[in-house]
Amino acid sequence: MRRLQRGTWRKRRAAALLALALGIAVVLTLGTGWLPARSIAATVPQGENVLRLAISGLRGELARYERLPELMATEQLLADALDPEAPGATIAGANLYLRHVNAMMGLSDSYIMRLDGMTVAASNFDQPLSFIGQRFDYRPYFSDAVAGGQGRFFALGTTSAKRGYYFGAPVRNRGRIVGALALKVDVDAIEDSWRAAEYEIIVTDDEGIVFLASRRDWQFRALAPLSDEARARVAATRRYDAAPLEPLPLERVGQVGAHRLMQLDLPEGRREFVVVAEAMPEAGWTVQVLLDTAPARRQAVIAVVLALLALALGAAGVAAVAQRRARLRERLQMQQEAQSQLEGRVAERTAELAALNTRLEAEVAERRATEAELRRTQRHLVQSAKLAALGQMSAALSHELNQPLGAVRNFAANALTYLQRGRQAEASENITRILGLADRMTEIGRTLRNFARKPNAQLSDVDLHEVVRDAMEVIAWRLGDRPVRIETDLPPGPLMVRAGPVRFQQVIVNLISNALDALEGREDGLIRLAVRKTPERIVLRVSDNGPGVPAGLEERIFDPFFSTKGVGSGLGLGLSISFNIIKDFGGELRVMNDGGAVFEVELARPSAQQEVA
Ligand code: ADP
Repeated sequence: MRRLQRGTWRKRRAAALLALALGIAVVLTLGTGWLPARSIAATVPQGENVLRLAISGLRGELARYERLPELMATEQLLADALDPEAPGATIAGANLYLRHVNAMMGLSDSYIMRLDGMTVAASNFDQPLSFIGQRFDYRPYFSDAVAGGQGRFFALGTTSAKRGYYFGAPVRNRGRIVGALALKVDVDAIEDSWRAAEYEIIVTDDEGIVFLASRRDWQFRALAPLSDEARARVAATRRYDAAPLEPLPLERVGQVGAHRLMQLDLPEGRREFVVVAEAMPEAGWTVQVLLDTAPARRQAVIAVVLALLALALGAAGVAAVAQRRARLRERLQMQQEAQSQLEGRVAERTAELAALNTRLEAEVAERRATEAELRRTQRHLVQSAKLAALGQMSAALSHELNQPLGAVRNFAANALTYLQRGRQAEASENITRILGLADRMTEIGRTLRNFARKPNAQLSDVDLHEVVRDAMEVIAWRLGDRPVRIETDLPPGPLMVRAGPVRFQQVIVNLISNALDALEGREDGLIRLAVRKTPERIVLRVSDNGPGVPAGLEERIFDPFFSTKGVGSGLGLGLSISFNIIKDFGGELRVMNDGGAVFEVELARPSAQQEVA
């Protein structure tokens, strides 16, 4: 899965790189071929404009002087001056006339020649390089004029070494051509208006020689090397005088539309031009505008650079997006791994927990089994305790009852023997003893009956004084001549409590009887009965100065069949029965040690209404 993804990713990257390379190739191809050609072509209209302007400027300049030679040639003074016999004053007049018109019309020079080409009068008659005395019969404008036509010629002045456009016209005297008038127009001013950074303007003659040029160093240079015939033709008219007519270092390097693309090796460096040209047949010229292609090429280069930059930016953007996606994918993968790890851990933990759970369940089952076992054991124990209690009770009962029964049998046999022998006194003593034993057995029986008490028996308001008094009567027989004092310290007046009178008396008898047991063998035995009152409760306190309840047995002495007295002496039922009786009364029986044993019976007092009633 991961390898597959990586494969597609690699393919995509290759495709992107291929697209980028293709883009660069396209940009470079277009940027070096089509685009420069297009932007150069876009400059052609500008060149055509310049060309139109230049041509109309030239035409305007020539048109200004077109009619002037014929007009001036009609001046009689000039015809007169051409007469070989003309007096000096006439010549001087012609000179002045020519100078006047020359200055007025802004001409470079104006002069008249005789038929042999000799100059007789000139506007520059008073200048150091005057034309007077010079022959210009080799110039076409002269030969054209003396032939009766219009002379038109541009050339470098042989005397002034200044370029000019020459107009020629015949001078007639009485209808006969007597000489020629020539005007020279300066062309420097036209050139000056052509200077601009983006283009160059040249005007060439029909031999391909640059005559006018926006660059001075191009003047009198040939566009192509001149043939010997051409050189001879040029020399015949001395058009360019002694100029060497070196060819320009020009090379045709291409074509943009209908226009030539030329390259020039100039002193300042190589320049390339697109050439826009138009012929001016009336002057025998070709006007050419050379547009520098450098700005257009620069533009193309800038466009290419911009396009490359855009491509680079696009590629960078795509790379960034791809990288981001790759990072995202990586992060996702990591997350997935982490999740699967987590899931693995969770599964592990779950398995552990499940194992723990089964272990716990097993433990719980074991516990339950143990508990059930325990319960069973407990039930067994209770059963055995019951059996033990039964055994203990039957042992005590048989002991308690067998002994007196045996004694009764003995005393009865003795009494019978005494009666048979007529010994009345001994017989009655034995019978008395029998009665005593019968009483004891009755006592035992009553104790057992009380054990099966009826807890729901009715309660009533009983006076504590009465209950204590009755109890003292019951216990009196046990006192006999024992050295035990019983102190009853009861406050006067009725001490009413809620109780059952007979059962309450039984409790007090039990407590006193236990105290008597505890004081067995003591000479100064003392049993005290005292009462403490609170608004709701009455507490009867029975204390003795015996050994007290052994420590740790305070709770157990209230258990049924618990006794520290040997078999035959106590059933261990007295306190248990008493405790339950007091509980039935809604009171409390508790034990503490204070010198000897102290038992407290706390009972509720009847409510005020009940007390009055
Ligand atoms: P019995 O008197 O038959 O033993 P009881 O339930 O009346 O049964 O008394 C339980 C035990 O409480 C006695 O065996 C004795 O150890 C202890 N006992 C009860 N009264 C006193 C007392 N006044 N002084 C010391 N021990 C006492």
